[in-house]
Amino acid sequence: MNLLVAQCTDEYRVRAVARFDEQALASIPVQTPAAEIFRKLIGAGRITVTVEAEEQSARYQGVVPLTGSSLAQSLEAYFASSEQLPTRVVLAADAQGAAGMLVQKLPETEVPEAGGEAWREAEWGMDRIVPRVLLDGSLESNLASLFMGHDVRVFEGSPVGFKCRCNPGRVAGVLRALGSEEVRELLRERGSVTVTCEFCRRPYSFDSVDIETLFADTQGSAAPIAIH
Ligand SMILES: [Zn+2]
Repeated sequence: MNLLVAQCTDEYRVRAVARFDEQALASIPVQTPAAEIFRKLIGAGRITVTVEAEEQSARYQGVVPLTGSSLAQSLEAYFASSEQLPTRVVLAADAQGAAGMLVQKLPETEVPEAGGEAWREAEWGMDRIVPRVLLDGSLESNLASLFMGHDVRVFEGSPVGFKCRCNPGRVAGVLRALGSEEVRELLRERGSVTVTCEFCRRPYSFDSVDIETLFADTQGSAAPIAIH
């Protein structure tokens, strides 16, 4: 199954994994328009957006079919159906990095016409963004040229960086959830059990002593855990 997962914490620590069909990608001619590539590679998939609070009590999940001809358009459809707020998204990425811009129309204020006019102008600006410019240009000059005539203010940014949240405890939990029988079978076949984190490729190895310790206090009856 092909899968793209991206996670971001409230401190802008991100991690992501993409599983894709390399052969299918390689077979697409270079000149193929991006929209066509998207439809070809994605097919009839779904996009799931999950928002979680630390204490797990305020978990929200929205699922919509992948629509349009890009991930950005699929996200627009998600915002339209889940938050019912008109939203425009532009995304750009290359081998060095990724950038994006999201504009959302907030619920009507006291002057609905003024809000409507401002939104039309914001959409006009978003329609004219060349995604590549988001990667290369400065934020200030992009905003100034796209939203001319508006009082645009730039707030201080926050650094975004990669950080994986895997650790030996979580991996041990995954093995416990698999059950002692299956894990011991793997141990018999291979001499040790290695679990590789899909996000950072860090390998976690367990030898027979580790495995015995793992199941010693659970008798193999641990409840399955959610893997994030
Ligand atoms: Zn990891």
